[in-house]
Amino acid sequence: MNCPACSRLLYSRSRRTCGFCGAELPAEMLFSGEGIAAIRAEQVAIEVRRAREKAKEEEEMKERAGEGGRGFEI
Ligand SMILES: [Zn+2]
Repeated sequence: MNCPACSRLLYSRSRRTCGFCGAELPAEMLFSGEGIAAIRAEQVAIEVRRAREKAKEEEEMKERAGEGGRGFEI
């Protein structure tokens, strides 16, 4: 996404104004095309993180269960 006024690359989509020239950015520019793709990519990243955390939790539970099993055998 580039600024419509100065054509420089905008590094932050959360800003409503250009960080270089201060031009106000149209709202539809922030939530269209690349903006939507960025939001979707963020959502996917969050889902992946959650899945990893869940897998880690399950692994820890298995480890605990394994320790308990060994204790029981002794
Ligand atoms: Zn600008």
